[in-house]
Amino acid sequence: MPWKSRWQVDIPTCSLPTFLLKSPTANLSKKPILIDATHPSYALSLASLRLWSQRLAAGLHQHGFAPQDRLLLCSGNSILFPVVLMGTIMAGGIFTGANPACVARELAYQIKDSGAKIVLAAAGSLNTVLEAAEQCGLGSQCVFVIDSGYETLEDKGQAVGTVRHWSELLVSPSLAVGFAWPELSHEEQRDTTAVLNYSSGTTGLAKGVQITHRNYIANCIQANYLSLLGENIEAKIARTRHLSVLPMYHAYGQTTFCVNAVALGTPVFIMQKYDFITMLTYIQKLRITTLALVPPILLAFTKRSETRQFDLSSVEVVKCSAAPLGTESKKEFERLWPPGKMNCKQGWGMTEVTSSACGLESDAIADDATVGELNPNLEAMIVDDNGREVQVGDRGDFWIRGPNVMKGYWNKPDQTAETISKDGWLMTGDIAYRNQEGRIYIVDRKKDLIKVKGNQVAPAELEALLLEHAAIQEVAVIGITRYGVELPRAYVVKRDDVRCSEEDIVKWLALRVTRHKRLTGGVRLLSNLPRNASGKLLRKVLCALAADENVER
Ligand code: AMP
Repeated sequence: MPWKSRWQVDIPTCSLPTFLLKSPTANLSKKPILIDATHPSYALSLASLRLWSQRLAAGLHQHGFAPQDRLLLCSGNSILFPVVLMGTIMAGGIFTGANPACVARELAYQIKDSGAKIVLAAAGSLNTVLEAAEQCGLGSQCVFVIDSGYETLEDKGQAVGTVRHWSELLVSPSLAVGFAWPELSHEEQRDTTAVLNYSSGTTGLAKGVQITHRNYIANCIQANYLSLLGENIEAKIARTRHLSVLPMYHAYGQTTFCVNAVALGTPVFIMQKYDFITMLTYIQKLRITTLALVPPILLAFTKRSETRQFDLSSVEVVKCSAAPLGTESKKEFERLWPPGKMNCKQGWGMTEVTSSACGLESDAIADDATVGELNPNLEAMIVDDNGREVQVGDRGDFWIRGPNVMKGYWNKPDQTAETISKDGWLMTGDIAYRNQEGRIYIVDRKKDLIKVKGNQVAPAELEALLLEHAAIQEVAVIGITRYGVELPRAYVVKRDDVRCSEEDIVKWLALRVTRHKRLTGGVRLLSNLPRNASGKLLRKVLCALAADENVER
């Protein structure tokens, strides 16, 4: 029998904007909650977040943006990110975010796959975005430049060449006041897609994960319920100060800062992008209490000497997710605080579950690498290769079901059917076990996915690209682990008639992908790739080869 979370929460029937911002005209707080960490006077309150989002939503309608049209934002973090997210959804559209460090080919893929009608680009990514738009036949009149937030709060932004400034998409505040976004019935809330976050899932290329209004609201309530459980909820909320270290184009950062914190009205200090020393500086200066991190950042805290030069005493809560964190690394991190002061909580999530599905309640203590228990309203199974449930304590495929599981992949019914069973189980592609207390441990990954510093790298994408190299006859990409960090490595069968070294291949690929997809795990030449009798690639054999070189997976 599947087991159920021990917590149950109510999920209201409404749209995501109504969940966060009550109604088009209700009185909302004017306390700053989305605050630029560098210029704290650039800030939005709930009331101004709503008005800015309404200005964008009404403006999008004037530009012919119809229900369920897609808008792509290619930008780092800024106080305008939540505005574009919410404004697009208020207009009845679908938001999709892209990494501003993407190369043109990667962006073109996302623009084309999502069918984005409007693209907003941070100034630093504009040339790449224009190149990508051209590659997929999107006219440059559909591209708008958006700055990091400051000028535009005053509506003073400038066009760049022929590319219009996004303020042309905004109607005036007086026209936008009271703009009414569509309200949703129970069925509409369940079926209406609000966001496409890109993930390669268990195999293949990146796919648009359709997150509905209900998915988003459910995941927000689940996550906030766990982080507040226990005593003194009001006091916990009152002293919380987040630092948005993680990118908002990824589900983890987007849900944590643009939705979950907004729902509680807790201030988020927004960093444009991650930089270790800048992060420490802000923690000290802004007296940050709550951090959501990924394992490589935690490791940086313990490995880098600069950590000791900063006062971290304000930090009370550290969550870590997106990739495995070992018990020793967790303990080393906790030792940066006086004994008993810090208990770092690991969680487990996946873009396909909106963001999070397992965690620890705020007052729980974990002294090992558990990712916690099931979020409220979720059920789970751990099954063997034949889909039969294994015993408590035994390892198997981790399946989950619940209100935060995606509707499916955008325009990809076959891949959706391979990932979500007919009765609604999401087959996560992770290997896990649970103990008698219901705590879950993620022990391996079965799917073809590499996580580099929390970012996804799809072996299929790198393999397809590498096959375009004149010297490569066959190739397989796996992730290897060094010092707790995953790195992509290619095993290559070379053509005899073309000269080229391992180093040449590393350099060749580096010109064609975002930084985190580079072959930092190196290239190894083989005379052939290991395959079974029916020709299926045996990735496990390659992992064993890597392990033989004293490189653990
Ligand atoms: P993403 O969709 O980018 O969030 O990646 C989801 C995947 O990251 C999961 O399916 C896991 O393979 C991995 N992951 C997330 N959290 C953890 C964790 N705490 N421990 C191990 N792997 C994790």
